[in-house]
Amino acid sequence: MLGKWEDAPDSPCPFCQKRLDRTFVINDTGVQEPGAWTVCSHCGAVLRFTSGMTLRMATAEEMRGLGRERMSALYNFRNELMLAKAARN
Ligand SMILES: [Zn+2]
Repeated sequence: MLGKWEDAPDSPCPFCQKRLDRTFVINDTGVQEPGAWTVCSHCGAVLRFTSGMTLRMATAEEMRGLGRERMSALYNFRNELMLAKAARN
């Protein structure tokens, strides 16, 4: 499982400070867990879950190490979110 919709985490986005509506988790297990990747549903920031299950910005180095398949899943999801957001405005 490369990615899966999940209920939003309690933690707000560290970039825009808004609480995510829901989240799309990208990792091997498809569950929210430390180290899993997601994208902010408001600003599109690429985020990771910390050991305390809060959200932090992914670093450039982490993004380089993500790999083509996961990176493409992440960006497809990000595009979907941004298009849905634009359609609402
Ligand atoms: Zn955000």
